[in-house]
Amino acid sequence: MTADTGRWIRNFVDGRFVDPDERSSFTKVDPATGAVHARVHEADEPLVDRAVAAARRALDDGWARTPVRERAALLRRAADRIEERFEEFVAAEIADTGKPVTQARELDVARAVANFRTFADVVAAAGQESFLTDLAGGRQALNYAVRKPLGVVAVIVPWNLPLLLLTWKIAPALACGNAVVVKPSEETPSTATLLAEVLAEAGLPAGVYNVVHGFGGGSAGEYVTSHPGIDGVTFTGSSATGSHVMKTVAPRVRPVSFELGGKNAAVVFDDVDIDEALDGLTRSVFTNTGQVCLCTERVYVQRSVFDEIAGGLVERARGLRLGRPLDEATTTGPLISQTHRDKVLHYFDLAEQAGAEVITGGGVPRLGEGLDGGSWIEPTLWTGLTNSDRVVREEIFGPVAALIPFDTEAEAISLANDTDYGLAASVWTNDLRRGHRVAQSMNVGMAWVNTWFLRDLRSPFGGVGLSGIGREGGESSLHFYTEPTNVCVQL
Ligand code: NAD
Repeated sequence: MTADTGRWIRNFVDGRFVDPDERSSFTKVDPATGAVHARVHEADEPLVDRAVAAARRALDDGWARTPVRERAALLRRAADRIEERFEEFVAAEIADTGKPVTQARELDVARAVANFRTFADVVAAAGQESFLTDLAGGRQALNYAVRKPLGVVAVIVPWNLPLLLLTWKIAPALACGNAVVVKPSEETPSTATLLAEVLAEAGLPAGVYNVVHGFGGGSAGEYVTSHPGIDGVTFTGSSATGSHVMKTVAPRVRPVSFELGGKNAAVVFDDVDIDEALDGLTRSVFTNTGQVCLCTERVYVQRSVFDEIAGGLVERARGLRLGRPLDEATTTGPLISQTHRDKVLHYFDLAEQAGAEVITGGGVPRLGEGLDGGSWIEPTLWTGLTNSDRVVREEIFGPVAALIPFDTEAEAISLANDTDYGLAASVWTNDLRRGHRVAQSMNVGMAWVNTWFLRDLRSPFGGVGLSGIGREGGESSLHFYTEPTNVCVQL
């Protein structure tokens, strides 16, 4: 069984790849060059029906009742198989996204392996709640909650860290005994498809993992989320789409887990170790060309070190190396598509209209070497903006940040929390007490002190406000992917 027939990327339903249909397909472009690298079979509504039915059958045929230790062992085998086929996954991720090979290896594919191993451990170690209830007359009752799989889960994921974000959901969903219908982003169909092979090789029964390709509204995304056979939706993507999906599932009152957009702040105090802060800020603004939901787009800097931080960040931004993804020296890839670049460039215009000073970047680079058809953009920093400017309020999702000065701790907290989003924040200071105090006062799901995107996969991940609903990670994932039945026994 192979995922690719020539340059076709196929749907995977009920344990088999579905033969492609020329009439309903779309092309997938390599964002580094602009060249078409594959044709993707778009799933129609009947195929989504088949995927949901196959998932239900797999549950009923026994997957939902598989012993936990068997499911954990299967997850570990999947992790081993990804490691064995590591470079295939790296190549597939690069072909879809144009991201640098070093990042694909060290972040995207490495984290996919870690996701499977972590959730194998988490599910194997999980206990269950029980309470002894005192009753009148000295008798007692025993209450215990049995956790059952949620059922058929729709998994809708974006394009920025495709395999990482997919496995972040698939691993706990399968660990808990669910069957899934996955709709990868139309921009990144490859690794979800390759994962179908790996999971089958690891021994996952047919129908437990299904992949349907396509777009959102009027396509596979909508067919899956509106399907009456779906028991819940786990979604990572933009806040606008999340809101739409919520409306879609509302009539049938299905649970949702939403990991949505961000407009994340960094707060830099003047007691900080400047070089360490600059290294961390550079990562937090520019990793994956700024296309990580956790990326910093607002940098608040205490006034006395503002110029030094601004100058240091400009220097580091100019030191980033845009180039061929397979060149190990490349640090920064293209944006995902020309459409997304148009969106980011629109914010460049808005920044200019708002009177920003562009302290580095601000345009489209000319890279030559066959890369000029790609969706490249310059790492860009602005000063002179305020929290009332759209550029500082709306998620841009590019390698960009606005640098804004502050004077006091209270002002910094108020500026950082002045947003409709609430995903992540980072605080940079050598004062330990202040680090804890400010991090705890951030109105976000995740706050880091003197670091960024350092994850323990057992800890909760998610956001508040426009950034999402619910938490995944460790036990939080087990809670979303299961439903408890409380049993009360009078003793
Ligand atoms: P998007 O919302 O456009 O698309 C996400 C997924 O939803 C895609 O698979 C898409 O095809 C699908 N979709 C679109 N419309 C749909 C509809 N009507 N019904 C069902 N499915 C639909 O997001 P994107 O551009 O792919 O990703 C970037 C966004 O994702 C950013 O906002 C980013 O912050 C967010 N994100 C959040 C996290 C997090 O953990 N909080 C992580 C990564 C990305």
